[in-house]
Amino acid sequence: MIDNSFPGKDVSADDIQTKFPLAAKKSVDHKSIVEVGNKSFGGLYVPVMGGPNTVESLDLILKCANHAKKCHIDILRGGAYKPLTFPYRSEKYFETRSKGIEWLGIAKKETGLLTVSEIVHEDQLNEMKNNIDILQIGTRNMQNFPLLLHCARSGKPILLKRGFGSSIRDLLGAAEHILLEGNSRVILCERGVVAPHTHRASSRFLLDIQAVPALHEITHLPVVVDPSHACFWAPWVPALAKASIASNADGLMLEFHPDPSNAAVDPLQPLSFEEINDLMPVLTAVAKAANERLLGVQK
Ligand code: PEP
Ligand code: MN
Repeated sequence: MIDNSFPGKDVSADDIQTKFPLAAKKSVDHKSIVEVGNKSFGGLYVPVMGGPNTVESLDLILKCANHAKKCHIDILRGGAYKPLTFPYRSEKYFETRSKGIEWLGIAKKETGLLTVSEIVHEDQLNEMKNNIDILQIGTRNMQNFPLLLHCARSGKPILLKRGFGSSIRDLLGAAEHILLEGNSRVILCERGVVAPHTHRASSRFLLDIQAVPALHEITHLPVVVDPSHACFWAPWVPALAKASIASNADGLMLEFHPDPSNAAVDPLQPLSFEEINDLMPVLTAVAKAANERLLGVQK
């Protein structure tokens, strides 16, 4: 499967045996299904996680949760803890922290949706216990090994976002830390990498779509894609989402907001309610045509 005759290639056959034996596939058809509540990643269905960047208020997250349900989105996303690159905040922006987690819990109860939210410190595990179904490790924390181990021990499924400067080898190494700690529910997420040329000044990352087949070649873990954070530019999100599904991604993370230009964080990146509503049936058709998979309807 892996050609070892190219020295310096990112992942070698030796890596598979000695660096990440738990994350590596044991045979060509080896594929794990990660179950989260009544949803699963890596099987016939391709779950979509969607919602605002930030849990700005209870009202916002309830609006988004109800819209997610209407669009057949499986899992509600929203960040209450936001490790932003620069410390200065706009007037609109505030981290809602434990309140935001509580509001996600209320939205979960009201709609029956599962939830995913970023954790930045192990102290947050307790408040996330009942309110959050998938712990998201953000790109900036992919190699925060103490955090990974605390999350692993919680037993909750973990969405591990690829560091924006990390190789696939490093991503699999981070996953191995979680697996070795006894937590097998790891979902890998490609969310864009730093590249010298990103086509647009506001786009800091380039979606590494190649990571999807590359990871599927090496690991049995499900691989999902977040095009919103990769391109940072809503008009491109539908194209990248379609490409991700066509590339056989095992899930998607998409940002949407009722009033995108007034989103508290990253207002260039969320789709409008109408855009996400229009995109979902297109993605369903792509999943079926490209890979005979189903999307947006998993009961
Ligand atoms: C997010 O999903 O809200 C987020 C901050 O993602 P990333 O860690 O990929 O930047
Ligand atoms: Mn962001």
